[in-house]
Amino acid sequence: MAHVDRQAWDVVVVGAGGAGLRAAIEAREAGMRTAVICKSLFGKAHTVMAEGGIAASMGNANEHDNWQVHFRDTMRGGKFLNHWRMAELHAREAPDRVWELETWGALFDRTPDGRISQRNFGGHEYPRLAHVGDRTGLELIRTLQQKIVSLQQEDEREFGAYDARLKVFQECTVTRVLKDGERVSGAFCYERESGRFFVLEAPAVVLATGGIGKSFKVTSNSWEYTGDGHALALLAGASLINMEFVQFHPTGMVWPPSVKGILVTESVRGDGGVLRNSDGKRFMFDYVPDVFKEKYAETEDEGDRWYEDPDRNRRPPELLPRDEVARAINAEVKAGRGSPHGGVYLDVSTRMPAEVITRRLPSMHHQFKELADVDITAEPMEVGPTCHYVMGGVDVDPDSAAAIGVPGLFAAGEVAGGMHGSNRLGGNSLSDLLVFGRRAGLHAAEYAASLTDRPAADPLQIDTAEAEALRPFSAETGADADGDPVRDRGPAENPYTLHQELQQAMNDLVGIIRRESEMYEALKRLADLRVRARRAGVEGHRQYNPGWHLALDLRNMLLVSECVARAALEREESRGGHTRDDHPAMDRGWRNINLVCRLADPQGDSRAADPALGQIRLSRRETPPIRRDLLELFEKDELAKYLTDEELSR
Ligand code: FAD
Repeated sequence: MAHVDRQAWDVVVVGAGGAGLRAAIEAREAGMRTAVICKSLFGKAHTVMAEGGIAASMGNANEHDNWQVHFRDTMRGGKFLNHWRMAELHAREAPDRVWELETWGALFDRTPDGRISQRNFGGHEYPRLAHVGDRTGLELIRTLQQKIVSLQQEDEREFGAYDARLKVFQECTVTRVLKDGERVSGAFCYERESGRFFVLEAPAVVLATGGIGKSFKVTSNSWEYTGDGHALALLAGASLINMEFVQFHPTGMVWPPSVKGILVTESVRGDGGVLRNSDGKRFMFDYVPDVFKEKYAETEDEGDRWYEDPDRNRRPPELLPRDEVARAINAEVKAGRGSPHGGVYLDVSTRMPAEVITRRLPSMHHQFKELADVDITAEPMEVGPTCHYVMGGVDVDPDSAAAIGVPGLFAAGEVAGGMHGSNRLGGNSLSDLLVFGRRAGLHAAEYAASLTDRPAADPLQIDTAEAEALRPFSAETGADADGDPVRDRGPAENPYTLHQELQQAMNDLVGIIRRESEMYEALKRLADLRVRARRAGVEGHRQYNPGWHLALDLRNMLLVSECVARAALEREESRGGHTRDDHPAMDRGWRNINLVCRLADPQGDSRAADPALGQIRLSRRETPPIRRDLLELFEKDELAKYLTDEELSR
């Protein structure tokens, strides 16, 4: 094997979205030499695309807001499957993380009396999202990057080198977490531009790689989101939980086909936009589920009055949690009341003056004008559900963000599981990644500092990772890069074709509405794709070869998709981002059950897994009982809708 460069760090952060940058800042401020590595350009992450805002109960727009109300809303949104401790820490710490951003230079929109403005969003009782127009994520990332630059300037003054204690490796991808026995010892990486391999040795690795949306055909996610961190964690011996819960955002663009799935922010509804079907009816009033009936308006008049007087009116049902709205749109389209291109209408043009629309929703105005030739100040948008976010993720300790069972591995942001239960509320991701990004960085630093001996990167694992990464270049010879015969011989497969087939299968068979027979079919197709993906072949060289990169990403998407399909098949109820046609009701008996996915072969060699059984083993685990003082924040009648009889009697 060729020589592979090695560099030693204390903490390696994989991902430079909000969670990764916040973790890196914390680890560096704790004095650790910290490397950040990201698949695309520095600054280009989903966080930068976040539009609506950061949920934090600062109480600026309504003084009744506080962390307890935020906690309640989050648990209700997640249908009580959230890890209660994560929901508690998140609600308590989110305001501090927003104020901290302000001290680092973030320029939020203001209330008339000069405080940080907060806007309404689905599922939040009070206006709670701190925002910067509809470009909040951009300001968040800009601020964190600016903080990183200031830390690097400090290092330049102290050590004569900007990257002495904090270095960013952009356009570099991690394909394996390395281990020394049970402990993490670093990450195996390649550089996109040159195809060069290198190893970042470190006792602590923080996964902050975001979501999995690229396994689905219609998605708001961009090319990087192939579930890498989820797969890296599985391959390193960690577990994933709640993988059946995938959020289909109700409003993605549906036309023209080239932009299908691109997000239409929830702020459009938060600021007064309404959903109508082809008969012009505001249909959401017909879709308020029993658990939410008391909290939502029954008439259009009441819903409209709420925008001006939220204390004396109930909110309009367009602001129900996302899972409810997505299902309602799906049902309207299925019933033949959809728009010409298979969506429904989202209208702001009749709800507010053009000048207000262009001021409050500048990106949406621009997006529809440029991509669909629609002027949203004069006509409605056509929208439909799009795969947006995964609630499932790495099974972590709530306080420290440490991956359970793998010393030295941490996870924060979208790649971590538990916080959002079965459904995330809008705005709760930006706050999640700040709260738990900070915690992950802090605890990774503490862990690294506490070690008396550093784990070593194993040369054999490095060789194996290199051979795995080079395999697509020798697919047609029927042999691995290291000359071992490939078990499943046959013609080389085109990675793009495999990807399209995977996306279609997940969209059609494990999408927004699920049926048992279709999920069995999905598992069969995934097994077939897995065999074919071993022959994914590419031509050319290693410099900037996107076909090669996709061939490597397929391993991750297949692993993660199998987790989603297996868990979705197992959970025989409908809850949040998991809707079963054959089990349409939420079942209290499932309230306290997490489905846990692990790799079938603990050695991490997916070849050894029995193709008939797949690569993933699923088990059930009871969730920890919710602390009493937190339960007391709810009315008994409400708890009776969610908790099992046993939990209630306790
Ligand atoms: P990301 O910001 O997704 O960053 C992941 C990072 O990991 C990237 O740097 C990527 O390059 C890197 N990476 C991935 N794989 C690898 C690998 N193998 N090796 C190296 N690096 C890797 N949430 C809200 O709360 N409010 C909103 O208004 C909002 N709007 C949204 C709008 C859109 C269009 C989208 C797509 C999402 C929105 N969300 C919103 C969700 C939210 O933006 C994301 O959930 C959140 O930003 C995820 O942050 P993260 O730090 O976990 O990961």
